Amino acid sequence: MKLYIVKFFTTFWLVLGLCGSAGLASAATGNPALNTDVIFDTATLSSKNYFIPQDVRVCPDRDDGYLAILKGPPFAPNNIDLFNPSVYPNGTPMQPAAAPPKPVTDQELQRQIAKTLLNRFSIMYNGNPTDKAKEGLAFFNDPIVKSIIPDSRLRAGYAMLLGTPLEGSWDAIRNGIYPSVYFGTPPNPRAIAMVLSTLEIVVNEKYQYEDPRLLSPWLGHETLHQDIADYLKEELVATGLTTLTQLQFLKEDPKLATQGTELARRNNTYDMALLNSRDANGNIHILDNQRGLPIFPNSIDPSTYYGQGWVDEGLGPDTPGNNVLDHAIAVLEHSQMEPPLNFDDSTLQRLDADTNQVFIARSWLRFATDLQLILQKPWDHQCIRRNP
Ligand SMILES: [Zn+2]
Repeated sequence: MKLYIVKFFTTFWLVLGLCGSAGLASAATGNPALNTDVIFDTATLSSKNYFIPQDVRVCPDRDDGYLAILKGPPFAPNNIDLFNPSVYPNGTPMQPAAAPPKPVTDQELQRQIAKTLLNRFSIMYNGNPTDKAKEGLAFFNDPIVKSIIPDSRLRAGYAMLLGTPLEGSWDAIRNGIYPSVYFGTPPNPRAIAMVLSTLEIVVNEKYQYEDPRLLSPWLGHETLHQDIADYLKEELVATGLTTLTQLQFLKEDPKLATQGTELARRNNTYDMALLNSRDANGNIHILDNQRGLPIFPNSIDPSTYYGQGWVDEGLGPDTPGNNVLDHAIAVLEHSQMEPPLNFDDSTLQRLDADTNQVFIARSWLRFATDLQLILQKPWDHQCIRRNP
């Protein structure tokens, strides 16, 4: 959400207010990371050591089986305390992560960067994991990056975007588009982060003690805003990409969903919205899934698809795109960067079409179990969680 054009949603999206804008052209280079989720999961499923629990007799063995579950109605939560009370008001009040007894050290953050990137690239088979971890650490320790982002927690958040759809943010930072990135109080106090008219990125200081992996997708989100033009169309594209990035982190560490902090719950709510935004064929959509079923079952929020909060408010005019956007779409589509995209209907529909392909059916269902959503059959959980 840009500083000047603040729309107020009547649904939960209001309370999830975010971001900002501002912009120059960056010069992102290099090939986008390939999302090899499909390769990994296919390998897992075809493993000779594939484990089938003895008490589970009717597990779906192929993706068709998982898809059958996804064709069912939206999944209701088993634990509303994992989500935003703006949607489930009977949930406990949200509390941001509290300050730790001792401030986190650069060494600890560097360990987290290395661990995250080693794990990510071991799964993706896209480059040497050790080299990628070193790349992440080099970004973290880059003097130019440090001068723009002095806070090492925020730098760690950006470093861990390597290998995600929003990794193009590195170039946006290094090219000096943003004079500074810091924790502070955004003009919209509900925002997680915003881009100011000065092109500074201010990240809500109440989230400074959150796990940097929860904040990381939102840091990438802000670099999609590179000019003062920002309407809800741009915001919906940016937020959709943010949620997909969140889910990549969740895939790598399911415990992120149960940290119980305010930011974890806000992220979970977006994740649930996307996961439940399925059409009758079980495919995930950002835009209208033509199904009309509430994506937050048993809640006060009537939304029936992920993007409804933005669409109902009017998406507004198109806005210019940038290299972070181009890079993100290229990552989703496993392609090279193309002629520049804009934040327009074409890009929005393309993102809508790409979203379902980012993860295979089994991964989408794993997110449902990570979020403690209720699947139709008791054994579904066991089938989805089983290990090779
Ligand atoms: Zn935004």
